[in-house]
Amino acid sequence: VVQAEADGPADPSQPATQANKNLPKYPWSNDVVNTLKSTFRLSGFRQNQLEAINATLNGSDVLVLMPTGGGKSLCFQLPALVKSGKTTGVSVVVSPLLSLMQDQVEQLKEKGVKAEMINSQLSADDKRLNRNLLFGNQLDLVYVSPELIRSDGMLNGLKRLHSKGQIARIVIDEAHCVSSWGHDFRPQYKELEFMKEEFPDVPIIALTATATSLVKADIRRCLRSNCLEFKQTFNRPNLSYQMWRAKEKNSVYNSMKDIMDKYRGKTGIIYCRTQSQCEDLAKKLKKDGYRVDYYHGGLDTESRIRVQQQWQSGRIQAVCATVAFGMGIDKPDVRYVIHASMPRTMEGYYQETGRAGRDGNPSECIMFYSFQDFMALMCAIDRDKDLTFQRRNHQKELVSSMMQYCENEIDCRRLMILSYFNETLPKGDICKKTCDNCRDRALKNIVTSDITPIAKELVALVSYVQGDKVTAGHIISVYRGSRIEKIVKLGHDRAPAFGNGKPLQQHDLERIISHLLRRGILKDIPKETAMRNAIATIHKGPNGDAVLRGQIKVEMQFVTTSGRSGSTATKTKSKSTASASKSRQSPNYDTQDDV
Ligand code: ADP
Ligand code: MG
Ligand code: ZN
Repeated sequence: VVQAEADGPADPSQPATQANKNLPKYPWSNDVVNTLKSTFRLSGFRQNQLEAINATLNGSDVLVLMPTGGGKSLCFQLPALVKSGKTTGVSVVVSPLLSLMQDQVEQLKEKGVKAEMINSQLSADDKRLNRNLLFGNQLDLVYVSPELIRSDGMLNGLKRLHSKGQIARIVIDEAHCVSSWGHDFRPQYKELEFMKEEFPDVPIIALTATATSLVKADIRRCLRSNCLEFKQTFNRPNLSYQMWRAKEKNSVYNSMKDIMDKYRGKTGIIYCRTQSQCEDLAKKLKKDGYRVDYYHGGLDTESRIRVQQQWQSGRIQAVCATVAFGMGIDKPDVRYVIHASMPRTMEGYYQETGRAGRDGNPSECIMFYSFQDFMALMCAIDRDKDLTFQRRNHQKELVSSMMQYCENEIDCRRLMILSYFNETLPKGDICKKTCDNCRDRALKNIVTSDITPIAKELVALVSYVQGDKVTAGHIISVYRGSRIEKIVKLGHDRAPAFGNGKPLQQHDLERIISHLLRRGILKDIPKETAMRNAIATIHKGPNGDAVLRGQIKVEMQFVTTSGRSGSTATKTKSKSTASASKSRQSPNYDTQDDV
């Protein structure tokens, strides 16, 4: 494996022509530069584009890892037009989304490129027409859906083309879709592994923005072992990152409006977890005079296209959307991406925030997260009957990593993101106070607390009440000594440690419980309810007894804001000696429900 890795935080929006000057000359080098200028009307290459182009023209298998908006398309579109490479013929592009294919083919046609697509949405006539063009060796690029590429007609036709030496390369765009470890698994993509056996001498180029090691390993199965890897830094210097713990519905809503007011006349995206959340939020914002609309998988194609176009043209300020709004969207001047609730995975978070600021200008990524979001996501995974045990655990780990990122109030967000994607961290300050943690570091006092006594009390308490199948919220209420009707009726006011958690803040207890869940000291089990809402109940976890026996020490970091309350180590009423913070700057709220 040859790795061409970025050696510094380069701005992906800037052409890197300088660095390209020292590259070796190939028989195709002049063609490449001419095509860049005449067809694509671009002045230079970005980091690793030319390297990847040369590698595929040289007949190598290539894996391109570049963040969203980094310029992956050029890495296969340009070589498709160069006829002086080691292989000639058509470039066969597998792409997961019909809308994505359509956009790219249209853009290529505008540039005068001979490109077509073949998928199930075409009329029989168009399909036949495009097939004839393809099998008559009339095309430079053909986009095919993963479903159709394995159909007999298609495969036989491709084999015939191949026998005449008329397939130049196979392109697997959005290659993370092959991996069930990723955030966007497509079963038909997994079957692309067969391509390298069917067409052993045709170079394959796979491209993705998702680069965790598990996903990468799955992509590599589609490629030959000596493939070349080109990786661009995932740092997005012009994006700023901010997390707000969502505690109260109204203040979240007001904070969102503040952001939209700040960017009046500019465009943004507001990601919501569910379809109904998109609709509710959009309705509310509309009523308050904002030009917004909603977008999700439940809309018909016509509405989706309409909303996307209105957003693209700037006629609406923001779209309230589920993750269905994403792939293939290429608006350069998105100034803010708001997550109204926590995304499922860091990959998803990176992709979604990555849609901001493609033009290289400063843009904001703001997330409102809550413990309820976290529990709802965990529960949805538990209730997904199609998951195997192993997959379920893995998905829960992904959600936990996401929660850990949210709850981390100490480390640089930018560095956390880069290390999540296994990127060697650059030296020096690459953040320059563009994330909340770096910005507020001087104001904070960080203390590490031994919370073993609290953990013990919670395990004992949970063991006592778990038979009644109660939620984390209920457990926190019991620990804090609430005497609401349900608690008294169930006799939970007689639970061990009842009321001992009174001096602790609600959000600190939420953090503590999610920490204990992560460490297997507690565990969550989904509860079937009449409603479609997922509710998780809390039980003693596999490591619970070890905590009770004093065999596990539990530590957590807490942040206190210096100045206002000093190092407020709140002593609990009991023997517990944990400290927890008192003051927060984030908007406060605390309800079960969505935003
Ligand atoms: P990705 O597939 O990596 O998300 P795209 O290939 O869609 O990104 O490219 C994103 C944007 O960057 C497009 O608008 C494209 O025209 C632009 N772009 C790509 N390469 C260059 C370059 N060398 N110089 C200037 N702009 C580029
Ligand atoms: Mg792309
Ligand atoms: Zn930072």
